[in-house]
Amino acid sequence: TLLVTGATGQLGKLVLDQLLASGIAPARIIATSRDTTKLANYIARGVQARVADFDDPASLDQAFAGADRILIISTDALDQPGKRLKQHLAAVAAAKKAGAKHIVYTSMPSPETSVIPFAPDHLGTENAIKATGIPYTILRNGWYMENLFMALPHALETGQWYSSSGEGRLAHIARGDAAKAAAAALAASTSESHTYTLTGGELRSTDEIAALVAKATGKSLNVVHISDEALAGGLKSAGLPDFLIPIVVSFDANTRGGHIDMVTGDVTALTGATPVTLAAFLEASKARL
Ligand code: NDP
Repeated sequence: TLLVTGATGQLGKLVLDQLLASGIAPARIIATSRDTTKLANYIARGVQARVADFDDPASLDQAFAGADRILIISTDALDQPGKRLKQHLAAVAAAKKAGAKHIVYTSMPSPETSVIPFAPDHLGTENAIKATGIPYTILRNGWYMENLFMALPHALETGQWYSSSGEGRLAHIARGDAAKAAAAALAASTSESHTYTLTGGELRSTDEIAALVAKATGKSLNVVHISDEALAGGLKSAGLPDFLIPIVVSFDANTRGGHIDMVTGDVTALTGATPVTLAAFLEASKARL
C-alpha cells in the first residue's frame, strides 16, 4: 500500500489524482488527514481514508499501520518556530514503528545553506529520515509557479512589483509537476535512497518573470528593486501577519543570495516528462491575474 499524508492539501490532492490516473488500484492507496470528511470524493472512488494528526502521535500508529511506502507531505504550520519539525519527527517515528519500507518527503532546495527561517525544519526532517535506516526519496521541491499568485495580482493592479530579489534567479516548478514527481517516487518499486531537487527548466530573475507576466497578460509590470527592510515595511503596511513577514522577505533574500539558483533534470528523471514552462503556465492561468 501507498500512503499519502496531507492528502487534502493542494499538493496532496494532485498526488492522489496522479496515482489514480496512473492506474494504481484505489484500495492500494491510503490518504490521511486530520479530517477525513474532506476526503469524501476519494473515499467514493475506493481510496482508504485514515485520520492522522502529526500533533497527536498516537493517531499515527493506526494511520500508518500496514503502509509499505509513505509520502510525508510537510505541514503548513509556520506560525510557531520548531512546530513543524516536531510534527515531522512524529511522522518519521511513526513510519519506522509501522515498518514502512520507503519514506518519501517533500523538502526544499539547499536546506543546508538556505536563509529561509524554516530551512532547519526541513533539514532536521531529512536527517531524521536518514537516521531511521529506511530507504528514502527526499524531494527538495523548488518554489511553485502558483506562489506567484500571492504577489502578482496586487503588483499588476499598480504596475509595480516590489522585490528585494535583485538579480537572483530561480526556476519555478508547477505544483502539478511536483505532484507527478511525488506520485512517481511513491509508486516506484526502488529501495534505493535518493535526494532530488525538483525545478522547472529555466532560471529567471524577477525582472525576467515580470516581462513574461506582462506579455501573457498584456498589462504593464515593472519591478521596483528595494531592500529587505523596505520590503518588510511594505508587507507590514499591507497587513501581512507579523510571523509571515520575515518568511516572505527571506524568499527574496534567498533568491538574491543564489541559494535557489539551480536547474535540474530530476522532474524528468522521475516522471519521464518535461516540466511545464513558466510561459506556458502563465498563458494557461492568465485569467487569474
Ligand atoms: P496546503 O496548505 O494546501 O496543505 C497543507 C497540508 O498540511 C494539509 O493537507 C493538512 O492536512 C496538512 N497538515 C497541516 N497540519 C497537519 C498536522 N498537524 N498533521 C498532519 N497533516 C497536517 O499546502 P500545499 O498542498 O500547497 O503544500 C504542501 C506543503 O508543501 C505545505 O504544507 C508546505 O510544507 C509546502 N509548500 C511548498 C511550497 C513551495 O513553493 N515549494 C509552497 C507552499 C507550500 P489536513 O488539514 O487534511 O489534516
